[in-house]
Amino acid sequence: MAFTLKTFLPAASVALAGGAGAFYYQKTRTPQAALEAASGGNRYPASAEYPDLSKHHNVLANHLTPDVYRQLRDRVTPHGVTLDTCIQTGVDNPGHPFITTVGLVAGDEDSYEVFKELFYPVIKERHNGYDPETQTHPINLDPSQIRGGKLDENYVLSSRVRTGRAIRGIPHPPSCSRAERRELERVIVDALQGLPTDLAGKYYSLKSMTEEEQDQLINDHFLFDKPVSPLLLSAGMARDWPDARGIFHNDKKNFLVWINEEDHARIISMEQGGDMRAVFTRFCRGINEVERLIQNKGWEFQRSDNLGYILTCPSNIGNGLRCGVHVKIPLLSKDARFPEILEKLRLQKRGTGGVDTAAVGGTFDISNLDRLGQSEVQLVQKVIDGVTLLVDMEKLLEKRKSINSLVSKIR
Ligand code: ADP
Ligand code: MG
Repeated sequence: MAFTLKTFLPAASVALAGGAGAFYYQKTRTPQAALEAASGGNRYPASAEYPDLSKHHNVLANHLTPDVYRQLRDRVTPHGVTLDTCIQTGVDNPGHPFITTVGLVAGDEDSYEVFKELFYPVIKERHNGYDPETQTHPINLDPSQIRGGKLDENYVLSSRVRTGRAIRGIPHPPSCSRAERRELERVIVDALQGLPTDLAGKYYSLKSMTEEEQDQLINDHFLFDKPVSPLLLSAGMARDWPDARGIFHNDKKNFLVWINEEDHARIISMEQGGDMRAVFTRFCRGINEVERLIQNKGWEFQRSDNLGYILTCPSNIGNGLRCGVHVKIPLLSKDARFPEILEKLRLQKRGTGGVDTAAVGGTFDISNLDRLGQSEVQLVQKVIDGVTLLVDMEKLLEKRKSINSLVSKIR
């Protein structure tokens, strides 16, 4: 009898990433039995396994008490994900007093519920007090509700909106097996073949590209690089690299889909210049098309009413949206109030080479800080209004005028 992987997965042949490495358990075994088997039936008590978090500065360390660890250590999701798989990145990376990372990833969709006693408080702290027990996440992908959106191109060099999406029934990059990762690639690439007109394009697997082609795409800001950050490596994101990773893009390279990087899929709309309205309009159309095509093939995105779209990192759940620009603000970025201005506008800064790079020559990647509890339209509007204000401040500083009145206007 022919099984599709989708029907076969929940009950059988599931990878369990344990301390001693991944192994497979049989169809008849329960996840609990798999846990026992992994340790040769000789498990140490939770108190002996509790990680040393005494020097840690991540959100995980604020909530993973010995009691919570004892409560959750022996739970397993239907795909065989354990608590230890989810927390490994936070245990290995103590972080920095001024840069608080999350320190927790979801091995699969169920991780958020099975390990809820840890995930919910982490989400609440990371997402500005959002309470998944009582709140509902709004979704709004109607670009006609955006006000303005054409940013000053003397300052704004490029505009981009991205999100992540995960497919229900397949574990996330930290815990999927090779077969699951390849199945995911097949499902999405197959669906993308149906994209219409200007969104239509081609899939390029990393394995099929030369190193020069990859470097060119990375340098042009279209493609992700092989993970080198210890946060990603400890989370298990680079396993089997480059197997089943790749990029789909249209001819104009203004609509792109990354496969099997940090999430199953990252969907991106971007272009040179400051027309964020056009970028967001194409983003909304593209994401709706991709969802329709995935559903036509009998699959669906992971989503819940309280958590929104479910992704690997709890910091990304909700709308998974990062709406950002590369903007040249050399004077404002030297002002001592710059970090505080960004925080008040709920914006974040990165270097233009991506999350792990420093800004060069006063040009920054400025994007929304929040993801959960606010809709796509609300966040894109915040970025448009916020970046407009930053550019106005830069112009005043160029004329050697004070920005005090603009700063004090921010609530
Ligand atoms: P993401 O949150 O999408 O993973 P990263 O910070 O990891 O973003 O960056 C991924 C790539 O996208 C990098 O090459 C980065 O330069 C590029 N990028 C991000 N924002 C923009 C933008 N507004 N314009 C052009 N390229 C961008
Ligand atoms: Mg990234």
